[in-house]
Amino acid sequence: MKTADTAHSEGPSAFAQAAELELRGVSKRYPGEPEPAIHDLSLTVPAGEVCVLVGPSGSGKTTTMRLINRMISISSGDILLGGRSVLERDPKELRREIGYVIQQVGLFPHQTVGENIATVPQLLGWHKDRIRARVHELLELIDLDPLQMENRYPAQLSGGQRQRVGVARALAADPPLMLMDEPFGAIDPINRGRLQDEFLRLQEKVKKTVVFVTHDIDEAIKMGDRIAILRDGGVLAQYDTPREILTHPADEFVAQFVGADRGLKRLALTTLAELELLEPDGLPADAEADGALSLPRDTSVRDAVSLMLTANGEPVRVLDGEGHVEGLLTLAVVEHLLSDEAAASPAMAADGSSPRIEPSSQGAR
Ligand code: ADP
Ligand code: MG
Repeated sequence: MKTADTAHSEGPSAFAQAAELELRGVSKRYPGEPEPAIHDLSLTVPAGEVCVLVGPSGSGKTTTMRLINRMISISSGDILLGGRSVLERDPKELRREIGYVIQQVGLFPHQTVGENIATVPQLLGWHKDRIRARVHELLELIDLDPLQMENRYPAQLSGGQRQRVGVARALAADPPLMLMDEPFGAIDPINRGRLQDEFLRLQEKVKKTVVFVTHDIDEAIKMGDRIAILRDGGVLAQYDTPREILTHPADEFVAQFVGADRGLKRLALTTLAELELLEPDGLPADAEADGALSLPRDTSVRDAVSLMLTANGEPVRVLDGEGHVEGLLTLAVVEHLLSDEAAASPAMAADGSSPRIEPSSQGAR
């Protein structure tokens, strides 16, 4: 493995651009504490996916991040990055291969934006031309003008810009894993939404393995390919895709955590293209013709319902890529979708409401 280590100073990283992360029966008990902060945590994040760790305050989210990059020691179990135990690695070297982004950003205030982003490449001994090129590339990636921004100090940036520079700094040495601990927690809701969208676009390009911590279930649903829900005592309550967690919460704790409006939340994840629409019989092919409501097929069902409700329940014409009417969405179609979901949800039965298991709805999945 020594050859891989030496390759860092100039060549590519020891890992591909993203590596699988596996936690195997990980526990953490802080010295002097009676109860473990993390209890027998096992989960695998496939390379290139975003895993969101979510749970109430004190459920061990930050502890998990610190265990992964060995800022604190594991009490038992193992963590593998790219199939190799992090316990075998030199902690300093490991941390250079893991991008870390935190809520307060932690930019060095007396260093310029360019110097901040260059931190890890400097430590790795990259040539200065290569560092400058990388800094410019990253500033462009996060939509900041390199020449305008590289010599500014963190205090001369907005909160959102600082957060983006924090992400760029974490990405600098092209790490196979990014840890992001409540990265947008301190940002106002509007800018937060923008940063989330921007990060998702960035992730499309860089395809890192990401562990993203939040206590906000809506952020988890939006950002995660998979969501790990922790409960008190650092116990994993459920690890699944957002859709599965919303449709089949594993137990009452998860159902409570995702909220009573999980049906609506699921509508936000479903696009019109995924629905069985009504035949557009007799409608003019050109939707613009008579001013009727129309939406593109990649609109979320939630947004479509919102539009229909403001229009007194009028149906919506769903348009394909060419603007032709593909089908008709009515509130009845949405109702059908929601009742399928209710029928398939075990937690609904557990809380006393009548489970309607219909064979037809099972087959529809
Ligand atoms: P979260 O990030 O989910 O809010 P943390 O991982 O920070 O939770 O903390 C999990 C639990 O471990 C909490 O009960 C917290 O008080 C405890 N804890 C965190 N850090 C330490 C520490 N250094 N020493 C002792 N207990 C700690
Ligand atoms: Mg925390």
